[in-house]
Amino acid sequence: KTAEEKAKDEGGSFDIGLQEVEGTVITRFPPEPSGYLHIGHAKAALLNDFFAHKKYKGILLLRFDDTNPIKEKQEYQDAIVEDLALMGIKADKTSHTSDYFQELYEYCVQILKDGNAYADDTLQEKMRDERMNGIASERRDATVEDNLARFEEMKKGTAEGIRWCIRAKISVDNPNKAMRDPVIYRCSPEVHHRTGDKWKIYPTYDFCCPLIDALEGVTHALRTTEYKDRDAQYQWFLKALKLRNVYNWDFARMNFRRTLLSKRKLTRIVDTGVVWGWDDPRMPTVRGVRRRGMTIPALQEFILKQGPSKNIVNLDWTTFWATNKKYIDPVAPRFTAISTEGKVPVKVIGARDAPYTEEKDKHAKNKAVGTKKVVYSQSILIEQADAASFAQDEEITLMAWGNAIVRSVSHSINPLASPAGLKTVTGVELELHLQGDVKKTSKKITWLSTDQELIPVDLVDFDYLITKDKLEEGDQLEDFLTPKTEFRSHTLADCNVAELKEDDIIQFDRKGYFRIDKAFKHGEPAVCFQIPTGKQEKAK
Ligand code: ATP
Ligand code: MG
Ligand code: MG
Repeated sequence: KTAEEKAKDEGGSFDIGLQEVEGTVITRFPPEPSGYLHIGHAKAALLNDFFAHKKYKGILLLRFDDTNPIKEKQEYQDAIVEDLALMGIKADKTSHTSDYFQELYEYCVQILKDGNAYADDTLQEKMRDERMNGIASERRDATVEDNLARFEEMKKGTAEGIRWCIRAKISVDNPNKAMRDPVIYRCSPEVHHRTGDKWKIYPTYDFCCPLIDALEGVTHALRTTEYKDRDAQYQWFLKALKLRNVYNWDFARMNFRRTLLSKRKLTRIVDTGVVWGWDDPRMPTVRGVRRRGMTIPALQEFILKQGPSKNIVNLDWTTFWATNKKYIDPVAPRFTAISTEGKVPVKVIGARDAPYTEEKDKHAKNKAVGTKKVVYSQSILIEQADAASFAQDEEITLMAWGNAIVRSVSHSINPLASPAGLKTVTGVELELHLQGDVKKTSKKITWLSTDQELIPVDLVDFDYLITKDKLEEGDQLEDFLTPKTEFRSHTLADCNVAELKEDDIIQFDRKGYFRIDKAFKHGEPAVCFQIPTGKQEKAK
């Protein structure tokens, strides 16, 4: 079954119709190349792809909304294309808002000539105030000639031009504030990453979006619900400039608990070194969640399952990772790792004199996953916590071997430990009791023979980057950063782990699922990231 079918089984998918149109459905995904795609963008992209390619035999456009030269970079644009491909999304056509700068300029001249826009040099704060209070700008009734002259001045990027912007002449006091003469062009002397210094004026999103959608033949412009108030404005531009019809269709923005989904904030997190980069496993980027161990079909299923609801909820990561577990559990091969700290040497009485190896299934329920070597010998290692729990003559089970009886446990008392006098187990003797029933023991212990090459493995777990469920307006990001978000522990793993490659997803018995971030090489430890499973978060 595809991720989409699975999402549908659970009552999800965006299977709610778009407005009927004659001919081909055309949707578009319009990212601003000012950062890497986060999972909110992934929702927008998958949704547009769903309508264009799955529900209808339509066309998906990718449009880089590159109107803000200060924040944009080619690096981001390339990463966006790669991340879309990773999610199985391939646009039929790619364009840039900047491809339309000439046409947009001409439309702006047109709208000025029609008397439907004006040049304004009201200071930003005053303009905001006037808009709030429904007061007309002093420049609102300037002549077409004056407006055109000022636009030309802006186009030259002169000191005079920079003082001005162009505003659509829609309404002074419409109850919908988006209709109160929005700014459509600004003067900015910045060099643009694609058009260089050719343009000193840049159209705003409010102006570009309806115009380019219409010019590119988009039939349905999907936008998050916070743009709902701007739909009227969008439609006004289409009418004012006699452009073809485009439907607006809105969907809920995706938010997650204790998660930043804003490129601006994520950029700050990256730039200030809080994380290693955009693909850090703590980042809610497409790359970040993948590096943490999210699989693409699970991501697709999770997002399509959100359904067409327009309610904005603060999602919990629990369901996100629980969806992933369904995909990885049936195929993740299992290995063994023992914590290095406090590891306990065990003498196994009754084991054969010489070490021997058996081929065992890597996955108890899925033979297709293959086999691995399990080494058996008289000398093994177990975890401190297991050893410390043993009672004299208790019968326990050594996983993938059989039962054994605890014959002796030796301790050392560490005077420096806290609480004072805490005992540490320094050695155990177990006597094999293979005829014992493994179903009757309560302790199933992981163990590793020391008669194999034990592979050093660092296990790394992560916490949320921020301490608050949802940052409110006015919250300073720096005040809500989790002080410690990376937890590393050292282990030794069975010899099979030497062959694992970067990106493999595995399970260490009793420790959980991991993605190999760095393979074992040249004697350096492998690095494995813990994949959350959606179970109750553990307190750290
Ligand atoms: P950000 O604040 O993260 O920069 P944005 O909306 O400014 O978000 P764009 O690159 O302009 O970023 O967004 C591209 C598309 O992704 C838009 O259609 C936008 O509506 C959508 N999008 C952005 N964030 C989310 C989100 N959290 N949930 C759903 N869709 C989103
Ligand atoms: Mg945007
Ligand atoms: Mg934004």
